[in-house]
Parts: sequence; structure tokens; C-alpha cells
Amino acid sequence: MILVLGLALSGYALFSSLISASRELSASETGTPQLTGKKDEQARKSDGRHIIVIDAGHGGKDPGAEGVSGKYERAYTLSLTMKIAALLDQEPMFEPHMTRTDDTFIGLTDRARMANELHADAFISVHGNTFPDPDIAGTESYYYADDSIRLANTIHQQLIQAAGFKDRGVKMEGWWVLKKSEVPAILLEIGFLTNRDEEAAMLSDAHQSKVAQAIVDGLKQYFSTKK
Ligand SMILES: [Zn+2]
Repeated sequence: MILVLGLALSGYALFSSLISASRELSASETGTPQLTGKKDEQARKSDGRHIIVIDAGHGGKDPGAEGVSGKYERAYTLSLTMKIAALLDQEPMFEPHMTRTDDTFIGLTDRARMANELHADAFISVHGNTFPDPDIAGTESYYYADDSIRLANTIHQQLIQAAGFKDRGVKMEGWWVLKKSEVPAILLEIGFLTNRDEEAAMLSDAHQSKVAQAIVDGLKQYFSTKK
């Protein structure tokens, strides 16, 4: 239901990114890489919108974290990113693209490459956290390159207010998907799926909508204050 709604709302940009994502995936499988970003770059130049690549962590054979309920991170990240993309698509200043719109496996390098080839203005990888101790809880935001710090700080601030979880801070870490990104890139660990309370909140439609809106608000703030 969420999937269908997300697709219906998000229109052409989402559809075209789905096409380029699948093309890119098959291209890397057959060993004949093709650039898919050129058309999109021209589109941005003509209408001035900021290209945002939203990355739903994990997928397919990579389930990600297993939550307290037994549900997997790959489903949470897809549901949340669908909401983010649908909201972004309603904003004239943004052109959202998604690295995946279904339960598909995509390699980390291919995710970053998509943002690089689109010359995206921001790459946002969305995750749910995991830890053996179920008491560990809270929101973390990560960046790798210095030019991603302001994006991380701006979104994190909004996220903390909306998610209502403990603030575990903005941290620098060499996550592969961030290291391979040549555009401002951040990775968000919204909360811990291994914490009962946070998982219950994160799997609710209302919490996801709040978090999605916070990320969009953070992006608006980031681009409106960009020097
Ligand atoms: Zn993850």
C-alpha cells in the first residue's frame, strides 16, 4: 500500500530514477558500464531544481538489522524513503531520485555511483541501527567528507526533534557508501531497531511521516542557507 502510494505521488523523477537504477545494475552485471546521468544533469540545468538521491539501506539478499519484532531493516528503510521521496516531489525546489523502490539488492558502490553520475546536490542514506544490548537507543547521523558536515548537522538537528529519540550525535565515519560519494553525502541511523520502544515507533506510519518531513525540512534549510 505504501509502495503504491509512494510511486503514485512521486511521478516522473522517481520513475526515471528507477529506470536508470535498473539499467545501471544490469550494466554492472554485464561488465559494460554506461553513464546514465547526463540527461538528468541537463534537466536540472534547465529547471534549477536540487537533485536529491535518497538511498534505502540494504534490500534483497541483504536484510540489514533484525528488529525486536523479527522485522528487517530493509523494509523499514524502503518504507521511510518512499515517504521522503513523495514529500520531496511536492517541493518545486527538489528533484528526488531513489536508489531502490522495491526489495532489491544494490551494491554500495552502485548506490554512490548513482549520486555521482547524477551530480546530485545531496545523497542521503537511510538506516535503522542495531546493537546486541537492547537498552542502547538513539539517533546518529554520519558524514565522511568535510563538505558533508553542514548537511549532516542541519538534518540531524531536525531529526532529533522529530524522532524524539536520544541524541547520539553527528559523527565522522568511513562508511563505504559515504567514501564512494563525490557529492555531499550523509548516512542517518534514525533509531535502534533492536530497542523495543524505538522499533515500535519507527515501524509506525505516523513516526515515519514525521521523520520524513524532518529530513525534507532539513534539506530546505540546508539549501536556503547555502553559501
Ligand atoms: Zn543499515
